[in-house]
Amino acid sequence: MNETPPQLRVRDLQKSYGNNAVLRGLNVDIQAGEKIAIIGPSGSGKSTLLRILMTLEAPNSGDIQIDGESIWTMPNGDGNKPADEAHMRRMRSRLGMVFQHFFLFPHLSVRQNLTLAPRLVNHVTSEIADETAMQLLEMVGMEAKADAFPAQLSGGQKQRVAIARALAMQPDIMLFDEVTSALDPELVHEVLAVLRKLASASDMTMLLVTHEMNFAREIADRVLFFDGGVILEDGPPEEIFTNPTHQRTQEFLKTVL
Ligand code: ADP
Ligand code: MG
Repeated sequence: MNETPPQLRVRDLQKSYGNNAVLRGLNVDIQAGEKIAIIGPSGSGKSTLLRILMTLEAPNSGDIQIDGESIWTMPNGDGNKPADEAHMRRMRSRLGMVFQHFFLFPHLSVRQNLTLAPRLVNHVTSEIADETAMQLLEMVGMEAKADAFPAQLSGGQKQRVAIARALAMQPDIMLFDEVTSALDPELVHEVLAVLRKLASASDMTMLLVTHEMNFAREIADRVLFFDGGVILEDGPPEEIFTNPTHQRTQEFLKTVL
């Protein structure tokens, strides 16, 4: 048997902060192009998983593979040899992440926010970086603000720029951590519209932690319900939202629907 590995494979992932066990042996396989909604109560480990996938933090144990290659250990040969910086960088470049609180560079224009990393990290020329930036800003409806600074933008506009900035690095897998949770209610729809467009128009893999259940139901191929540091339920949206197996899922859905 020589099956193609899934694009993203998480095996027995464990993470504790002191004696607070946040991820308790988490397992999931995700295929290229899947749109995954991650739901679950506050504190269940959703953000921790995304931060570990993005290599912003290391797990205590377990394995994460992209296309069959472990992120944290060197490929080929001694599987226990910790990854060197070049390997980590290569694996990290497959992923992009957008946070609840934007984290735009305040002293750079919108356009510069998008071109900085492609130029410095990917060594793209200024011309190409600018061209890509403008295409992405158009995609998120922000081309008119290319020379504005973050402080001049609304929350929804900042978040659309943050999404474009992550896309400028051309990741295969995009992680979105509650990207509408910090927005005034009337600004949520403009960001959801961008995500909807991305989900339908691109073949990128998308993992979205969200409290927008209708949105999750609409765009997700699969929904993961997190509870207490494990994935308690994993299935198509119709199943999770209308016929969840676990009492905990039913209770959670009652509080958010
Ligand atoms: P979720 O995103 O599902 O709300 P998180 O992954 O943010 O949950 O957090 C899970 C648990 O881990 C929480 O109890 C939180 O307090 C704890 N936690 C998260 N990050 C840290 C950290 N850097 N240091 C200590 N505890 C943390
Ligand atoms: Mg969170």
